[in-house]
Amino acid sequence: MAEVPEVETLVRDLRKAVVGRTIRETEVLNPAAVRFPTAEEFTSSLTNRVVLDAQRRAKYMLLSLLGDDVLAIHLALWGTIALLPSTQARLSETLIIWHLDKDEDLRFIDKLGYARAALGPADVLAEQLDLKSLGPEALDPDFTVDVLARQLSKRRGVLKPVLLNQRILAGLGNRDTDESLWLAGIDPRRSAASLTGDELVRLHAGIIQMLTEGIALRGTQRDLFGRKGQAVHRRYIFEKARQPCPRCGKRIAYLKIGGRNTFYCPNCQH
Ligand SMILES: [Zn+2]
Repeated sequence: MAEVPEVETLVRDLRKAVVGRTIRETEVLNPAAVRFPTAEEFTSSLTNRVVLDAQRRAKYMLLSLLGDDVLAIHLALWGTIALLPSTQARLSETLIIWHLDKDEDLRFIDKLGYARAALGPADVLAEQLDLKSLGPEALDPDFTVDVLARQLSKRRGVLKPVLLNQRILAGLGNRDTDESLWLAGIDPRRSAASLTGDELVRLHAGIIQMLTEGIALRGTQRDLFGRKGQAVHRRYIFEKARQPCPRCGKRIAYLKIGGRNTFYCPNCQH
């Protein structure tokens, strides 16, 4: 599942292997994968463009191009990108191919077909993708316990959906939220504004631990070069309903919160 550790791993790989190189030609195999502009404009604009930089904002990969455009890539649930020799056979689930220099391709692949790309000047992209509304980045050094406290105190809703709302905090996906709440010993059904000072400290530490370990292990998916990340998708509790909690041994529970699969330990998360 493509959450922040997986996206950050790919962005770091892009900086190493794609920044400074040229997109010679672009082939859109599934026009639905281009959010904007039209697939035709997307293809013609992405001809002989040099990639200047790769950054991440929430779950977006943002590639700055020479000539002021930014290429945004969002992997949705299971999308990925891969750097491959141009001669390599194409998978049927390939959405877009960026033909680079040195006979290599950057291929945008998603078995479910939900992943999307977009292109435009930085300000247009920020507007259309609503990037300015995103909350603080959980991995930013400025993300402190105080910032978390301030972001949660604004909301009266249930804790888990609030943590998943990228306008409140940019960086947590479904899996990483459940694992962070388990590390912190906090029930996902709590009201977001009800956390005590001590709970906020534990939740902040849990979020940072999940994300930094996930990135250090290079996520759970394949990286840009096809190497499998070493982070474990089902780590402590995620998708482990009815198995023993690694902390207390009681059974892990499953329920849906805000339509999202949620796993937690009713015995040690309060
Ligand atoms: Zn437990």
